[in-house]
Amino acid sequence: MITLKEALRLNKEELNQLKDELKTKIEANKELNAYIDVSTLDDDGVPIAIKDNIQVKGWSITSASKILKGYIAPYNATVIEKLKEANLTPFGRCNMDEFAMGSTTESSCYGKTQNPHASERVPGGSSGGSAAAVGAGLAIAALGSDTGGSIRQPAAYCGIVGMKPTYGRVSRYGLGAYASSLDQIGPLTQNVEDAAILYDIISGSDDKDSTNAKLDDKVTPNLNPDRKLRIAVLPKYIKDASDDVKNAYQKAIDALKNKGHEIVEYDLMDAKYDISAYYITATAEATTNLARYDGIRYGNRVDGANLQDTFIQTRSQGFGDEVKRRILLGNFVLSSGYYEAYYVKAQKTRHIIKNEYNKIFEDVDLILSPVAPTVAPKFGELKNPIDMYLSDIYTISVNLAGLPAISLPIDKNEQNMPIGLQLIAKAYDEQTLFDGALSLEQEINYKG
Ligand code: GLN
Repeated sequence: MITLKEALRLNKEELNQLKDELKTKIEANKELNAYIDVSTLDDDGVPIAIKDNIQVKGWSITSASKILKGYIAPYNATVIEKLKEANLTPFGRCNMDEFAMGSTTESSCYGKTQNPHASERVPGGSSGGSAAAVGAGLAIAALGSDTGGSIRQPAAYCGIVGMKPTYGRVSRYGLGAYASSLDQIGPLTQNVEDAAILYDIISGSDDKDSTNAKLDDKVTPNLNPDRKLRIAVLPKYIKDASDDVKNAYQKAIDALKNKGHEIVEYDLMDAKYDISAYYITATAEATTNLARYDGIRYGNRVDGANLQDTFIQTRSQGFGDEVKRRILLGNFVLSSGYYEAYYVKAQKTRHIIKNEYNKIFEDVDLILSPVAPTVAPKFGELKNPIDMYLSDIYTISVNLAGLPAISLPIDKNEQNMPIGLQLIAKAYDEQTLFDGALSLEQEINYKG
């Protein structure tokens, strides 16, 4: 598949030809289930695949939930407006975990998506459709959203690049909210430079999002893989990763050293605290955000005996199990009597996590970390929700601290499954993040 950089140079005719080729290829790979629907806006532009939780005017946008079936987006998300201004166009809705809750794309109401490298394995989640589309050569690039790893982890499982911007860099206007203090939209691409290009296009000021940082600086004009950086590695923190991932970690350290970067050792607090703080914060916010789906204002309604019963029937039949689980958990941690013990404590822990990162970033430019503890698991391998939650141990603290991070492919294991690692930068330092990632990518020279 041609890169985004190359596609931006195509003329109208070539772009239309490319879209036809994409449609044929998508049809031929239907069993992958990366796309829910392939449609395009009428205008010409470079086709970009869109996760099913980003509003595209006139499209049916459902967050892969039964409760939103039939809902037609009445407006464009800010990122879609920004794509169009840059001569890109939304092309196809990608599958995802219902309301972006999950790490495998198994909780979608449209059925599961397969990993493009092995059909018996998950593509990761929640942006699994976006990652599988790019990984299988069915998209030039895609947009996803990352609340606790949902861009970086599927990117790592599918052998592509996935980037989560600093909280506030990219407008959330028009993103189906999961956990508003953690969500960010970001790019999934074939290489680091394309991620920088797409990040530059979608980031920047927006008055429609009150948490937007209103910063318009761009990284691509100054991309420099030759800068010498000081990079922290975490030998103790990676103890729970599989041997495959540990080997890839060492390979990346060697590559960074070869490139002339300085490596220093640090440690981070046990990731088990991240999991607790994240799943309390995320479910509390999700409970609140999901209260709007009552069958009256959006999408699907199941009529009941009276208004109260309509709410109950709509929500009982509209939401899947994982979403219900999180609504229950979120209501529990917010309920009086437990609020102090859980929600407030999680916020204190979040503060400690943030401080811990800040302290390391007083000394270094970047941190090298695993993305997931293993390669993509097989369907059914994660036996219960807790197993699934544990696959997020290396990604969620980045969201809790609001930092930018990029996942890029480093190696493959014996089963030929890709292994990705992430670089993390201080808040708003996307420039250093991309410079370092480009440098690592050049030295690793990963072949997909
Ligand atoms: N797996 C995490 C969760 O289920 C992260 C999901 C995401 O980033 N949207 O909450």
